[in-house]
Amino acid sequence: MNSRSADTPEEERIVKSPYFTADHEVFRAEVRAFLADEVLPHAARWEREGGLPRELWKRFGQRGYLGLLHPRDAGGGGRDLFTSVVFLEELGRTGFGGLRAAVSVHAYMATHYLAAAGGRELRHRYLAPAVRGDSVAALAITEPAAGADLAGLATTATRDGDHYVVNGTKTMVSNGMVADFAVVAVRTGGAAGDPGRAGMTGLSLLVADTNLPGIGREPVRTLGWRSAGTATVTYDDVRVPADRLIGRLDSGFYYLMRGLQLERLAAATLALGGIERSLDDLRGFLRGRRVAGDVLAGKQAPVHRVADLATELAAARQLVHHTAWLYGEGELPAAECSMAKLYTTELACRLADASLQLHGSHGYLEESDVARAHRDARAATIAAGPSEVMRDLIGRDVLRGPAGEGTGPGTRPAGTPGHR
Ligand SMILES: Cc1cc2nc3c(=O)[nH]c(=O)nc-3n(C[C@H](O)[C@H](O)[C@H](O)COP(=O)(O)OP(=O)(O)OC[C@H]3O[C@@H](n4cnc5c(N)ncnc54)[C@H](O)[C@@H]3O)c2cc1C
Repeated sequence: MNSRSADTPEEERIVKSPYFTADHEVFRAEVRAFLADEVLPHAARWEREGGLPRELWKRFGQRGYLGLLHPRDAGGGGRDLFTSVVFLEELGRTGFGGLRAAVSVHAYMATHYLAAAGGRELRHRYLAPAVRGDSVAALAITEPAAGADLAGLATTATRDGDHYVVNGTKTMVSNGMVADFAVVAVRTGGAAGDPGRAGMTGLSLLVADTNLPGIGREPVRTLGWRSAGTATVTYDDVRVPADRLIGRLDSGFYYLMRGLQLERLAAATLALGGIERSLDDLRGFLRGRRVAGDVLAGKQAPVHRVADLATELAAARQLVHHTAWLYGEGELPAAECSMAKLYTTELACRLADASLQLHGSHGYLEESDVARAHRDARAATIAAGPSEVMRDLIGRDVLRGPAGEGTGPGTRPAGTPGHR
């Protein structure tokens, strides 16, 4: 039994868990120290500047943080999934949504496709330098007219000799302004909006350098995640060598459906870290702020609010860690990934809102951590698949299960074809 008092800091409460070993906790301390020393002192400036500096990517790479999960033969660290859980929780705990989006898109989303389905040449040319932090990766799926609906993607790649000619527009591309290459979802068959499988089986993934002739990039000003360097990227007769196809032609939908589970799990884990950080900050404020002769931590309304949020955090933590465990066992737990993403990102919004309210005017200051947490939390219920799509996936999975099987996690794979 884990004995602890109300004064135990949140970070000490997560140590005792069946999922983490002593080595994980050593690694956690290393990551936290690195982020405290080399990242947090500058993170607010990077928010204002709208992007992360090159040197930071190199520092992440030198420490092995950009390839923790990638197999060793792909240049990665080959570490277990819970090492990545630790890393993502700590990244989330920084409280800077743009930073965490930029790094996680690079390390767990864009490069994931190269590690999972890229051949030797693509891994050598793109994955290895990305793991070292010598290059920055982006993932370009969303288009102005199609985001959650993958069947609506309209960017085309037409074979012409030993090249594909790419035409179309991608938007909301995190790292888009700084990336050296992007993994781009393109249509190599079917037509945008074709019903059923036709609209999805014609998708492929190409890796395209961002300096190719015909590519344009424009910054997108977003409410939060301001250091993510978000861009709209246009492709105008861009000639991409045909050997930059990731995996098999017309199989992009298959790769995306698998990759999106990791994306959702990563989003949930980042949100979990962010929630822990926000709750710690709120606790500190409530204990220190005096109102009408008493600290706020002595008043029933804030105490009950914190009790509810801490209870939800405890539930969220178990859901995320259990989902990660299933994923690490090779189960591809699609329903749980959706549940974890849905629950944590919405909890982050509830907490950010409660925290802002309880901070009063202090939380409403543009540059405050509380205001930034509020802005950043809102993005995560949309990016990597909106909450509505998560509910759709979960609900359909529950209703599809045989009677008597229950709705327990890990019972069956889930997925509504066509939605991210
Ligand atoms: C900060 C940020 C960063 C992002 N980074 C990236 C990135 O790096 N790369 C990338 O490719 N994309 C990125 N995205 C895009 C993100 O994945 C899409 O916003 C998301 O998939 C939703 O697509 P959409 O915005 O086009 O909304 P739409 O698909 O038009 O949906 C609009 C709204 O309709 C509702 N809705 C959608 N589908 C359904 C449904 N099936 N059932 C019920 N309701 C539904 C939801 O409320 C949704 O928010 C990012 C988004 C944000 C906000």
